[in-house]
Amino acid sequence: MKRGEVGSSGHAEWHRVKLRLKHEFGESAYKSWVNPIEFGGFNDGAVNLKVSTRFMRDWVLTHYADRIRALWSGENADVRRVLVDVDAPGATKLADPEAQASQTPPPTHRLVANTTASGGDVLADSLSAPLDARYTFDNFVVGKPNEFAYAAAQRVADSDDVSFNPLFLYGGVGLGKTHLMHAIAWQIRLRSPQRRVVYLSAENFMYSFVRALRNHDTVSFKEQFRSADVLMIDDVQFISGKDSTQEEFFHTFNALVDQGRQIVLSADKSPSDLEEIGDRLRSRLSSGLVADLHPTTFELRLGILDAKAEQLGVMVPQKVKEFLAHRITSNVRELEGALTRLSANVQLVGGEISLELAHTLLHDLLRAHDRRVTMDEIQKRVAEHFQIRLSDMSSARRSRTVARPRQIAMYLSKQLTSRSLPEIGRAFGGRDHTTVIHAVRKVEELMAGDVAFAEDVDLLTRMLES
Ligand code: ADP
Ligand code: MG
Repeated sequence: MKRGEVGSSGHAEWHRVKLRLKHEFGESAYKSWVNPIEFGGFNDGAVNLKVSTRFMRDWVLTHYADRIRALWSGENADVRRVLVDVDAPGATKLADPEAQASQTPPPTHRLVANTTASGGDVLADSLSAPLDARYTFDNFVVGKPNEFAYAAAQRVADSDDVSFNPLFLYGGVGLGKTHLMHAIAWQIRLRSPQRRVVYLSAENFMYSFVRALRNHDTVSFKEQFRSADVLMIDDVQFISGKDSTQEEFFHTFNALVDQGRQIVLSADKSPSDLEEIGDRLRSRLSSGLVADLHPTTFELRLGILDAKAEQLGVMVPQKVKEFLAHRITSNVRELEGALTRLSANVQLVGGEISLELAHTLLHDLLRAHDRRVTMDEIQKRVAEHFQIRLSDMSSARRSRTVARPRQIAMYLSKQLTSRSLPEIGRAFGGRDHTTVIHAVRKVEELMAGDVAFAEDVDLLTRMLES
């Protein structure tokens, strides 16, 4: 893949990735977020995607970029990263709501009425985004890192009076904030259908506000929100820094709190770390109960894998679960994605889930966690390990004592970094990419046939990864 090359294959790949995304995320998310994205070409192992606003960019980055990368590298093994740029002149000046409103939302973006809400106020319900049926308390696996947030969420969902106001949930990406919020909403709708629950993302809140501004209809906008018994806003970090919406949010917030309505918020940071938020709003945000979701532990990840495997109805050997729980550590969404991919493969192609299958199928996911390793480190470690000179990594010497370690280092560079074959070749004394391919195959072959050799390579891998 050459620098900047677009080519028809890129467009075809993007087309296929889009179809997969549509399937995975559903029609409405697809139309709002995926379809408006434009493919802008490749650059050095990265896919360039273009969107029309900063807002879209942030949203696509937090919600779709990981999945796009994973799917795309399934299409094209050279793809290692996904970059999202804003590509529209004067796209997002949020100080100017008129301009923003005319750019966004994407054509079909609308707050979808929730069909499952029964009897509630039509206006309030039509503001609410749909809830995911899988995101219930029952389906949430509780462990040390999230037990406090879980308990707080349950308390809010189960009490008729307002106990903690607001409940502020925060934690890193994919740790279960949205899941818990939906769980609260489901539970309240189940227990007290007459209470009006409005759940929406902060960016939906902004869109509605901007639209109301444009239509000179802010009064009814406010009324709609203020008629909610429970207002839940997800990802409030998106509200940071946008003055007019922040102001509006603050007023809505105060009005609801003063009327004794429950508010539940989530963000990726604690209120005190939401830098762009004004002091007044910050102190209101911290005035209730702040509960954080800590990064998952190995045990929790295992528990989640157990639960998900059962839900999917697939047999996953303990070894594979442990392997995944060790290797995919940052984000529950990726962990789930890994399991889904394994089980889809077994359903479509047959066979059983095994360590080997996990290695092959999840290559991209696993490698994404190893991005820090550089070719320099690899060469150095391997040279030390085999007690050869570092310069022999790029020398022309072909005796086995240096050629084999060199091949191993090439193999590891392919496995552990996002470098392309030609780049690897260049780093090893300007060798051709076919030499690298040969080295990779050779090492794989030796690993398959020679246990001691395989252990050696595994050991090096682990050393480099740690
Ligand atoms: P966040 O909103 O914090 O980015 P999500 O709530 O969207 O994260 O969670 C990402 C995915 O991981 C969801 O599919 C969710 O169901 C799942 N998940 C996260 N934590 C848990 C948990 N403790 N138990 C079960 N599933 C979880
Ligand atoms: Mg979320």
